[in-house]
Amino acid sequence: MTATTIAHFISGHKVSGASARAQDVFNPATGAVTGRVSLANTQDVDQAVASAQAAFPAWADTPPLRRARVMFKFLELLNLNRDKLAHMITAEHGKVFTDAQGEVTRGIDIVEFACGIPQLLKGDFTDQVSTGIDNWTLRQPLGVVAGVTPFNFPVMVPMWMFPVAIACGNTFVLKPSPLDPSPSLFMAELLHQAGLPEGVFNVVQGDKEAVDALVAHPDVKAVSFVGSTPIANSLYENGARHGKRVQALGGAKNHAVVMPDADVPNAVNALMGAAFGSCGERCMAIPLVVAVGDDTADAVIAGLKIEIAKMNVGPGTDAKSDMGPLVTKPHFEKVKAYVDQGVAEGATLVVDGRGVVVPGHEAGYFLGACLFDNVKPGMKIYQEEIFGPVLGVVRVKTLQEAMDLIDAHEYGNGTCIFTRDGEAARYFSDNILVGMVGVN
Ligand code: NAD
Repeated sequence: MTATTIAHFISGHKVSGASARAQDVFNPATGAVTGRVSLANTQDVDQAVASAQAAFPAWADTPPLRRARVMFKFLELLNLNRDKLAHMITAEHGKVFTDAQGEVTRGIDIVEFACGIPQLLKGDFTDQVSTGIDNWTLRQPLGVVAGVTPFNFPVMVPMWMFPVAIACGNTFVLKPSPLDPSPSLFMAELLHQAGLPEGVFNVVQGDKEAVDALVAHPDVKAVSFVGSTPIANSLYENGARHGKRVQALGGAKNHAVVMPDADVPNAVNALMGAAFGSCGERCMAIPLVVAVGDDTADAVIAGLKIEIAKMNVGPGTDAKSDMGPLVTKPHFEKVKAYVDQGVAEGATLVVDGRGVVVPGHEAGYFLGACLFDNVKPGMKIYQEEIFGPVLGVVRVKTLQEAMDLIDAHEYGNGTCIFTRDGEAARYFSDNILVGMVGVN
């Protein structure tokens, strides 16, 4: 059987592009090749940017109310097709269908926000800012803007970017992850059906070559990136060198502190979702528990062991599955290697998910939940982003020790504290977080 070609969307049409390069797309639950995604070259990127550039003047000149009307129609189409999109996510990313539905909902939230653009774009007027001088501000679109997005949220993360950018009057070129490229094309079709003029939203599939071409393109005014920290850093530097406005969001490693007075069943329940939801492939995942006191650590580990034993690992399409596969075979190998490394570094592997086999899906990239105790700062499994279903427990004696650990870590998208009355969380937000915001 010939694999379906997944290509670009330029000027309101699917186009195969000039590049001969392509790579396989897999169903992570079966290991089967389900498509071939084109990898754009500079010529393809030039074509997409030219289309967006040509569409810009008329779109920028369209009243915000009419732009919002397209967004309302897009919202309606998204709501009609939310399960279809969720199925596409599960098929290429692997996450369980309910997680995929949640992702689509989070994306739709942003489209709803973008529908309010006539109000959001309002400017300010200051009478007599100085003698005889009035001052007014307005928000104007930049021109062609680009989005480069990761594999872990192929619908939600692009929707962090394009609905607002487009509603503001910009035109857009999206470069999604080649690991799960289909939802981006479907969203482009829905925008087209919603009445978005040709060229306002374009998709180029690809890898570094396409990203480099976008970042260097003189007509691209701004780039929004979400992905791993090394690529975020290099894209930020590269974008700055080319005089672009760049926002680049990188990787994460988040801690949850559990205090001795915490409601342990509640904490365990929350940790199960935070650590193993979407197979741990979330920038807001909690891969580290910092337990204050040995009794706390013992109780949390005992609770997690019970819950992990109840977990169903299986294909995302099976309603009984709590956790699906990892996204690719290389990522599966990488996460498994981290578990090996944790054992070699001396952490205690309390639950070992490495041997998990899903009957009928032996070639899928399934790894069971893994739980480490006695994880220590300095270990690779503590320092580095694993992006898989691996949860480590670090034992400390005091809340201060926990705070110092979190402060010292290179990464952190979010932290939570489990405590009986929320006092520690209040301390964190009033003292630590305010301090961090002040410094940054
Ligand atoms: P990634 O950095 O490998 O890829 C992200 C995007 O960059 C993809 O479109 C990819 O094709 C492209 N890319 C890859 N290599 C490139 C290169 N050398 N030059 C230019 N572009 C390149 O990330 P990923 O593995 O797809 O996604 C997972 C990462 O994303 C994790 O680190 C996760 O924490 C992070 N993430 C962060 C947030 C956040 O809000 N901070 C949200 C979601 C995901």
